[in-house]
Amino acid sequence: MRLSDLQTGESAIVVKVLGHGAFRKRIMEMGFVRGKKVEILLNAPLKDPIKYKIMGYEVSLRRSEAQMIEVVAMDEILKDTSAPETPHTIIDEETIREIIDKSARTINIALVGNPNCGKTSLFNIASGAHEHVGNYGGVTVDAKQGYFHYKGYNFNIYDLPGTYSLSAYTPEEIYVRRHLINETPDIIVNVVVASNLERNLYLTTELIDMDLSMVIALNMYDELENAGSILDYKTLGGMIGVPIVPTISKTGWGIENLFDTIIKVYEGEDPIVRHIHINHGSVIESGITVIKDELKTDPKIQKYFSPRYLAIKMLEKDREAEVFLHKEVNYDKWAALRDKEVERIEDTLGEDVESAIANEKYGFISGALKETLTPGNKETANTTHLIDALVTNKLFGFPIFIFIMWLMFEATFTLGAYPMAWIENGVAYISNLVQQWMAPGPLKDLIIDGVLGGVGGVIVFLPNILILYFFISFMEDSGYMARAAFIMDRIMHRIGLHGKSFIPLVMGFGCNVPAIMACRTIESRSSRLITILINPFMSCSARIPIYILLIGTFFPNNQSLVFLSLYLGGIVLAIITAKLLRKFMFKKDETPFVMELPPYRLPTAKATVRHMWGKAEQYLRKMGGLILFASIIVWFLSYYPRTEVHDSKNVSTEESLQQQRDSYIGKIGSFIEPVLEPLGFNWKVSIALISGTAAKELIVSTIGVLYSENNADENSVALSEKLKMPDPQTGKPDFTPLISISFMVFVLLYFPCLASIAAIVRESGSWKWGVFSIVYNTGIAWICAFIVYNVGKMFV
Ligand code: GDP
Ligand code: MG
Repeated sequence: MRLSDLQTGESAIVVKVLGHGAFRKRIMEMGFVRGKKVEILLNAPLKDPIKYKIMGYEVSLRRSEAQMIEVVAMDEILKDTSAPETPHTIIDEETIREIIDKSARTINIALVGNPNCGKTSLFNIASGAHEHVGNYGGVTVDAKQGYFHYKGYNFNIYDLPGTYSLSAYTPEEIYVRRHLINETPDIIVNVVVASNLERNLYLTTELIDMDLSMVIALNMYDELENAGSILDYKTLGGMIGVPIVPTISKTGWGIENLFDTIIKVYEGEDPIVRHIHINHGSVIESGITVIKDELKTDPKIQKYFSPRYLAIKMLEKDREAEVFLHKEVNYDKWAALRDKEVERIEDTLGEDVESAIANEKYGFISGALKETLTPGNKETANTTHLIDALVTNKLFGFPIFIFIMWLMFEATFTLGAYPMAWIENGVAYISNLVQQWMAPGPLKDLIIDGVLGGVGGVIVFLPNILILYFFISFMEDSGYMARAAFIMDRIMHRIGLHGKSFIPLVMGFGCNVPAIMACRTIESRSSRLITILINPFMSCSARIPIYILLIGTFFPNNQSLVFLSLYLGGIVLAIITAKLLRKFMFKKDETPFVMELPPYRLPTAKATVRHMWGKAEQYLRKMGGLILFASIIVWFLSYYPRTEVHDSKNVSTEESLQQQRDSYIGKIGSFIEPVLEPLGFNWKVSIALISGTAAKELIVSTIGVLYSENNADENSVALSEKLKMPDPQTGKPDFTPLISISFMVFVLLYFPCLASIAAIVRESGSWKWGVFSIVYNTGIAWICAFIVYNVGKMFV
């Protein structure tokens, strides 16, 4: 009996909640758990919601939700105890528990699997039936039902038709799906052929998407052993959150073990069980998220399906899902959203969504099997396997990886130097034009020193950043990044992380913000948090301008070496931080999880250009917005207050410097100078560091603005020349090679930019981690720069 069937005034005892995991959990959290008494306060026919009293509280449920709660009515309990039916009969708790336990001890099971995987054999063994067993697929679209009794439980078992997937194309597929939805079995037994896991587990991934309680029967285990293969099914089960039991249903071996496990899962006692999200790659996942978030706003549809599952099915244009959703008022909005996402995904990946999703699922499977399956003698080879054999090879894997990383940095800096010189010349040319044609005055100074000095100083690095992004997106889109993560797994374990953490870290070289968001695919919370927190130590592309400027100025002969040392320095501090966090904040977690190995794809030119243009657009927008704005502010603060002396024609350099010192920004700088002086920084540099907290590009643009006034007559002198010039007051230059190193170390490590902080707070779910990041990173930066500067001073 279902809770929705009861009338106002009646009461009942809860037996179980049906439906998919997330739904069940929510209902159970409201108090609807086995053995609890519910009283129906108001159930008006055709009216939603229904009001209940449970555990002393009043709650209301939708009719559709109440339909999924199995109960025993009090009347029936009275009948069962054959107590006299008077309103005052008191039944003792013991009796009630017995009755409830009896109803709860019926487990409904559905056998789901590919054709010929041994379902019917299993069904016959378990139920003692004699159904026909044979080598055919899809002769009848029908389910056989059988009953049996085992260890005090009644099993009600359905043998469903064989299917390869759960898309709504064949009658078998539709039948199985409808059965799973309408009959809401308590446990699904997914029968898979042990010797053909790659194909069989595809259906498993779809069942995982549906978020149902499940046990896997690793059938035909004899064949796996005969082939000489070894499967670490315990680890595999732990990775996907589904218990796996080896069986040979032809002989009955392992069947008892299977049903023991089913009972454990049914009673919620199996520690392996957890719901995982199969990661379909960032392109598809962002589509799923967009649609899922919309679907979530409609609570009605969540009874049968998890919103994530529906979102995936919508992207696949699944017919049944369409029919189901069509009734909803918001359908048109969802469909429009879906069409947009489908177009974006197909454009980016260069294949249709359905095959893209299928490919990603196969990537998940091969990732899971790569770690757990040691194949026997008869391995089949294909291109993916061949390339994998090479790039994940024990001997060649690392050299290939290091070569690709070297190529990436080399191209970023050497290739990027050419277009950079063009842009630099262009900016200088415009600056000269303005110098010649505009009448003197604050506006002219604003354009030359504020706008061109600030924005122009940063925009020259656009080519470097594009090249870096080209490599990162190529590695991601081609599938190589996942392999790199794979070979890094063992090393990552040494610092208490997982190979999966590696991808966000490499992405951090581009920009820490999307990299921090990419940490979502890391399932374990502690690993995710650690990866998020160490990400700002990965030197992002916004820090490149400052490196190029200072390294080009002070270390023209050792450019690559200094670059590499800085990047490595960041990585070393990330490792130390990860170790410290693991030691003092988080315990080691042992949950294994799958590293997807998506198929190799040659990214289309279109997709790559799109990817790069997306970044360029973002960068240019930042230039036009935040950086322009901040440059003008910095200029304004350093230009005012003005005295008559400053506006006269012949200002000496000393005078203009004195003006800067007296300006608003000079005062701010002098105020914080004492804190940063031990690191070798003067007030101008200190100001650049303050503005860099908003975005690290601002460091160069601020220096550009502050130093463009150093030399009022010669604006076309490159910024790098100005940095080397001695300060007229002290006679010493603001930057020396040592100061520049101390400065770069500080910039590398200190305060993550505001956007990163926002991402850290959002992804960690707590502002505390944002504060932690600010304090810890800035503290580490200060200490490291202090050591560099003061140790260095002993040698120069
Ligand atoms: P169904 O299509 O999933 O119902 O699969 P069946 O139960 O009809 O089995 C298909 C074939 O596989 C039959 O010939 C079975 O005898 C055989 N079979 C089933 N289980 C096993 C097993 O564990 N090991 C081996 N070697 N063969 C099996
Ligand atoms: Mg069969």
